Amino acid sequence: MSQRDPYEVLGVSRSATADEIKSAYRRLARRYHPDVNPNDPEAEEKFKEIGNAYSILSDAEKRAQFDRFGTVGDIPQDPFFGGAGGGISDLFDMFFGAASGGSRGPRSAAREGEDVRVDIELSLAEVITGFERGIDVARSEECDSCAGTGAEGGAAPDRCSQCNGAGVVTQIKSTFIGQVRTSAPCPSCRGEGFLIKNPCSKCRGVGVKPATGKVNIKVPAGVETGMTMHIPGQGSDGIRGGRPGDLYVVLHVADDDRFERQGQHLFTSIDLSFAQAVLGDEVEIDGVDAEHTVEVPAGTQPGDRVTVKGAGLPPLHGGRRGDLICSFNLAVPKSVSETEAKLIREFAELRGERVPKPKGGFLGGLFGKKK
Ligand SMILES: [Zn+2]
Ligand SMILES: [Zn+2]
Repeated sequence: MSQRDPYEVLGVSRSATADEIKSAYRRLARRYHPDVNPNDPEAEEKFKEIGNAYSILSDAEKRAQFDRFGTVGDIPQDPFFGGAGGGISDLFDMFFGAASGGSRGPRSAAREGEDVRVDIELSLAEVITGFERGIDVARSEECDSCAGTGAEGGAAPDRCSQCNGAGVVTQIKSTFIGQVRTSAPCPSCRGEGFLIKNPCSKCRGVGVKPATGKVNIKVPAGVETGMTMHIPGQGSDGIRGGRPGDLYVVLHVADDDRFERQGQHLFTSIDLSFAQAVLGDEVEIDGVDAEHTVEVPAGTQPGDRVTVKGAGLPPLHGGRRGDLICSFNLAVPKSVSETEAKLIREFAELRGERVPKPKGGFLGGLFGKKK
């Protein structure tokens, strides 16, 4: 693989500090993350390249090697140097077990950032189109006043004097087979190997503080309430170089009184007058993103339906939209005038139907009571 200059890839100078490198990496990784740029091979390639560059520049040894040789290849490791810092004590730990889970050497001070959940609401119109939007995310971000170190003014933390920075304390115990070394996390620094004597006043020594970040999300068309998007690395910043947490965006599709959703299909209804139902008509019905003119056939019955093909919602992974299904209600007048009542009776009589007796009024009241 051809290797581009990692300084160039991250856009930092050769004298950049570890923190500058880290924040440049984080900024670029967020921009080119595959979840933010789905189906974009160029962004994916870029994301890999950024990761490679960071893996070189974040490792002091590899960075020094690159600075000297302009490349980072495999260099044979001196088995007696570096590595686990091993030796005889490791063997003892292996056979007799360390006091706490066999840990040796300083426990990493880095802590992974927390996962963050954000709930967002979208309309049915947005379900049809999908959208891209910057959303506010309440998360912890690296404290800028101590550059994430947790120490006032960004000072380097002090090496723990009890364990001399190792994070573990070793005890020699006498047993029946002789002296045995055991190790336990250092009680003074709780295994971290360092102490912060003067904690940062802004983040109270934590290294991160609450902040609101903007994250650009791309919601595809066709989503449903309860669907969750997982965006790695966009949660809270890790502590002291720890991996950032992930962001989970939970989607809620807002209710729309006009429609009932069943998967990709939408159901709606419209009121027809008696005249429209009997004689037929042409009516406009509301779709989510357009109005549709539909034919009401003569003799339409209450509950009859008409389907507008393709006026429903799209499927999640692209394809034909579902249908809009409209059912007809018959709107019965709640009251009519005397003239209207007379015409309706005449209509019934004409059709040979039973004619309801008039109610109310002087005559109606008189007959009604006598009966
Ligand atoms: Zn701070
Ligand atoms: Zn210690």
